Amino acid sequence: MTSLAERYARVGQSISDAASKAGRNAEELTLIVVTKNHPATLVAELIDLGARHFGENRDQEASPKAAQVAELRPAVEINWHFVGQLQSNKTKSVLKYAKAIHSLDRPSLLDALNKAQLPVEVFIELNLTSDANRGGIQIANLTEFAEAVLAIPHLSLRGVMGVAGLGEDPNREFERIREASAKLMQVAPAAKFISAGMSEDFEVAIAHGATHLRIGTAITGKRQI
Ligand SMILES: *Cc1c(COP(=O)(O)O)cnc(C)c1O
Repeated sequence: MTSLAERYARVGQSISDAASKAGRNAEELTLIVVTKNHPATLVAELIDLGARHFGENRDQEASPKAAQVAELRPAVEINWHFVGQLQSNKTKSVLKYAKAIHSLDRPSLLDALNKAQLPVEVFIELNLTSDANRGGIQIANLTEFAEAVLAIPHLSLRGVMGVAGLGEDPNREFERIREASAKLMQVAPAAKFISAGMSEDFEVAIAHGATHLRIGTAITGKRQI
């Protein structure tokens, strides 16, 4: 059994090692600890270890957790990243605590965000499969979708988000994410960030340009709630 502190330190070391191996500066990487299925008390422990960015994928869980964490550690500025599929009717609730939404995956979500009139950073979630019914924006539609995002003034477009598919070669998948990122930057030069890499593949993602790592179980251990 390892402790949370050990796992947090170990992942931090692996991130630095992968960054130097790729000739990159670890300072340009943001570690988002995905705390879904874990209680607010675990988030507080991670804050004490130095973590400031946290990811959640369900508003029903994240909204009360964000409030609890604010009570547990009132003096600390915490950055919540919403990484799961977002139902339009939850948008207002998510915007109360989230600094960033990584899962902008369909045009109808833009209507909800537009109505909410609240500032938030967004990443466009990519659909890397050839199945148009899967969540995310296909690379062929990326430019058009990005233009629709840019037309909404209170959305700050940060970049792309991708999940390497199970059974696929992660090198190939992360390369496609990087190509999509380059394509996005042609219409949105400031949207240079890449949200990619999870517990199983973050080192590969770093080698292919990922800037925002979304790491859960390698740090938190198995799900608790
Ligand atoms: C759960 C989750 C993660 C973290 O996954 P781990 O394999 O536990 O590191 C990252 N991104 C998204 C979108 C998730 O839902």
